[in-house]
Order: sequence, then structure tokens, then C-alpha cells
Amino acid sequence: MAVFIIASTIVLQAQAPQGEPGQRRGGGQRDGGAQRGGGGQREGGAQRGGDARGGAQRGGAPQQAPMAIKMVKPGLYMVTNGGGNSTVRVTDQGVILVDTKNLGDQFYNELMGQIKTVTNQPIKYVFVTHVHQDHAGNIGKFVQAGTQVITNDGLKRNLETGGADGKGYTSAAGKPAPPNVTYTKNKQIKLGNARAEAYHFGRAHTGGDTVVYFPDVKVVSLGDEFVAAQPNADYPMGGSLLEWSKVLTQVLKLDFDTAIPGHGNDPLTKADVVAFQKKIDAIGKKAIELAKKGTPKDQIRAQIQSQTADLGTWQMTGVINDQRLDAFYDEISKAK
Ligand SMILES: [Zn+2]
Repeated sequence: MAVFIIASTIVLQAQAPQGEPGQRRGGGQRDGGAQRGGGGQREGGAQRGGDARGGAQRGGAPQQAPMAIKMVKPGLYMVTNGGGNSTVRVTDQGVILVDTKNLGDQFYNELMGQIKTVTNQPIKYVFVTHVHQDHAGNIGKFVQAGTQVITNDGLKRNLETGGADGKGYTSAAGKPAPPNVTYTKNKQIKLGNARAEAYHFGRAHTGGDTVVYFPDVKVVSLGDEFVAAQPNADYPMGGSLLEWSKVLTQVLKLDFDTAIPGHGNDPLTKADVVAFQKKIDAIGKKAIELAKKGTPKDQIRAQIQSQTADLGTWQMTGVINDQRLDAFYDEISKAK
């Protein structure tokens, strides 16, 4: 029995880190391709060793915490761990869910178990913030259940043709299933006394990002466009560090006071989003300035790191990992 338990734990730990592309350690996926090997950032180190929660887990054994559900506001909850954060909006007519956790039955079942602790209502709508399997992993389970799974059309394109080789996103955990509903710019739904508004404001973390705004409770779920640790721009999936700041300008026009980050154990505030945007904006401006001066590609991240104030714990080798450096340098070199 003891042996069995130990083995189970190892399995969990091995699967846990497969959040984002590149989170798999040597899983050999191509999504990883783009992100794997980064310089030890949230996508590099974080993904290799643990999950997207910054470097905290780097170097040590990944610590897979069980999922937990917490109330953010009456009728709105977040589920942490087991992949990116999920948002659960409960109404008397059913549940609106944002993001589906790591790909795999164990994660799907654990997520459903968490939701059942706060409501017996069925899930009527699922929004998925972007293609990475720690958010999109269980699209297929919800589609099979007959739920409307809504994503930006860019996410579907990422699945089909994304990546440096154009063969579409996949991961060590597998390839998420396609959604059964897509939108281009925005999509609104009403359920019971709640509303949800999905927006694609442009390229940021990926080219198929969705933010989901719940106007009646002034909460926005931002996926990996906003994380507690540091951001990363998935260029092969259409992400862009330079466009990201503009996207957050649009986000900040929404009337919200609470932001659910893609990773991190707590809801954050609009002021936190403002601070996050300022750092991304500062990186972009410095990058363009340095590129204009002819700073070579292999020095650009270190120069940005040393010349940009207030980056805090952010590490440029993770914000732009090795596999994405060419695309980033190309972008900043062409920027006006
Ligand atoms: Zn992601």
C-alpha cells in the first residue's frame, strides 16, 4: 500500500508541471519547442520544474498542490492549481467556467469536484483564455458533455496551424480538442442573473487570447495576459510583447476592481494590472531603443534587464525565452 501511494505521488508530480507549453520537462513537445528551454523563467524554469508560478519551484522537486476553490465575490470563485486558474461564475441557471486545467481526466475530475463543493448547477458555458494545455486541456471533455466551449478563433488557428512548424499546438500531455464555438472580437452571454463578456483585444500572451469580463461583479479573468509572477510572450503561437501593452490598455478600460490572474493563488486588483502593464511597456520601449542602437541579439535581454528599472523579480530570459528570441528581436528591430 505504501508503495502504491508513493508511486501515485510520483505520477502526479510528473504530470503537474505540464502546464504551459514548455512546462514539460523534456516532454519533447513542440509547444514546448517554442517555450522550452527558456532561460529559466516562468516558462523555462517554472515550466520545467513546476508550473507557471515563477521560479519558486525551480530547482527543487515540483510541488503539486491540490486544487483549491475560493470565493472571490459572492457567486464568483477561483480554482487554483492543477494548471492555470479557473474562474467559476455561479448562477441559478447554471455555471459559467473560464479555463479547464491541465489536460487529463484526473484534472478534469478534480476541477469538477471542486466546483461541486460550491454548486450543484450544471456547467452551461466554458470560455478558454488561450491554447496552452494548462488552460485549454479539457476542452474535449466539456464539448463531449454538450457544453458550449467558446474561444477566440485565434485559439482554433493555434491548434490547427500554430507553432514554428505550422503544424499546430500540442504538448507532452497531448493536444487539446478544438472548441465548438468561436468568436472574432467579442462575445457576450447571459445566464440567470449574470453576464459574461469575452474579448479578444489583440496579440499578447498568444494570438488567440480571450479575457472574460463579468460586469455585474466587476471581475475580469485574464488568463496568462496577467499573472502573479512574470509574463511570457509565445511568439510561435502569435504572441507579441510589443502589442501586449496595447491589449492591457483595452483591458483597463473595463470597469473592474478584481482581476483573476492566469497563475497565482489569489485574486489581484486593477492596480496590480496597471503595474504589470507598466513593466511590459517599459520592456518594450527599452527593447526598441536598444535595437535602434544596434545592440546584438545575444545581448538584448541582458541589456534590457540591467537598464530597465522596476522589473522586480522578472527575468528577461523567461519573459522572452531562447526559442522566442529570434521573433522578439525581429519585432523590436522593425518597430518604429
Ligand atoms: Zn499560457
